[in-house]
Amino acid sequence: MTATVITGIGELVTNDPDRDGLLGIVSDAALVVEGDRIAWVGPAVDAPAADAAVDAGGRAVLPGFVDSHSHLVFAGDRAREFAARMSGTPYAAGGIRTSVAATRAATDEELLSRAARLVQEMLRQGTTTVEIKSGYGLTTRDEARSLAVARQLTEHTTFLGAHVVPEEHADDPAGYVALVTGPMLEACAPHARWIDVFCEAGAFDVDQARAVLDAGEAAGLRGRLHASQLGPGPGVRLACELGLLAVDHCTYLEPADVDALRDSGTIATLLPGVEFSTRQPYPDARALLAAGVRVSLASDCNPGSCFTSSIPFCVALAVREMGMSPAEAVHAVTATAAAALDEDGPRGVGRIVPGRRADLVLLDAPSHVHLAYRPGVPLVAGVWQRGRPVV
Ligand SMILES: [Zn+2]
Repeated sequence: MTATVITGIGELVTNDPDRDGLLGIVSDAALVVEGDRIAWVGPAVDAPAADAAVDAGGRAVLPGFVDSHSHLVFAGDRAREFAARMSGTPYAAGGIRTSVAATRAATDEELLSRAARLVQEMLRQGTTTVEIKSGYGLTTRDEARSLAVARQLTEHTTFLGAHVVPEEHADDPAGYVALVTGPMLEACAPHARWIDVFCEAGAFDVDQARAVLDAGEAAGLRGRLHASQLGPGPGVRLACELGLLAVDHCTYLEPADVDALRDSGTIATLLPGVEFSTRQPYPDARALLAAGVRVSLASDCNPGSCFTSSIPFCVALAVREMGMSPAEAVHAVTATAAAALDEDGPRGVGRIVPGRRADLVLLDAPSHVHLAYRPGVPLVAGVWQRGRPVV
């Protein structure tokens, strides 16, 4: 197995809890990659010899970003809807149906090439682990093939048949839930690791969400949840009660939601690109952190409410608009995001410590702070995925 030493790292963000500070920063650092793993981390002066050497030239190295929430399998374009919204038309969840029609009409090859392009776009911006949901097919056939496409791009595939009730079931939402929890689940489970529900007025209520998550669990899928994006509701407390790893959006929280998140340890995954793209108020990350809630950030990359694939953009928004420090935001898109996908184990991602997967981002900057300090600037100068340079 070939070993490569990356040296001359001005600032190495390890997220190692045994080191100082939230980010476990090592200055003037080096690390050794062996195969697809981190083999050694420490001060550059102590670095062991290796077969090859890379000089980071004093720049910062971080764990590869983890995007735990995206909807990349779709066809069509909703730029017109965005323009209308920016001209004063409010966002409604029903816009999803536009993407459903285009997705059903697309071939598997089209869906795969579009999603693969977005995964590449993410990679160039430092995202080395991505979760991808279905949810624009909404028939057994179209959900199953959406997940088969996603499965070619990531291990973290999520069945989101319960995204919205499709038009043909508008008069019979109970019948649609029966389809999602029955034949559709059966067809999708082999391609999915997770199951998700959009628990929101206009989508699915809390009883329907519970039914979908229960059925998913019985089929071997672990639960995730979209909740409290457009208004307060019971979804966050459901996620906490069920012990889900994460509940996503959390924009409109009530005090009981915050208590439930803190007590359950369920991660609140905030998606600030959505608020940016819909002109909704941002979730209060500061209040959540102050209450002791674990906070993660993800892109929610999707054609309707938020078409950014950029984790650096989300970091900048979280710092500028949501009261997070740059260190908290970086931790949220690495270690905590890894935990939200159950990838924070000794062989997981999100931290640069020996044994973890060698997923790394080299910034064209001396510090992680530049991700928020220099918004909109393409700072990612290099990316390693599973120990191999890919950008
Ligand atoms: Zn979403």
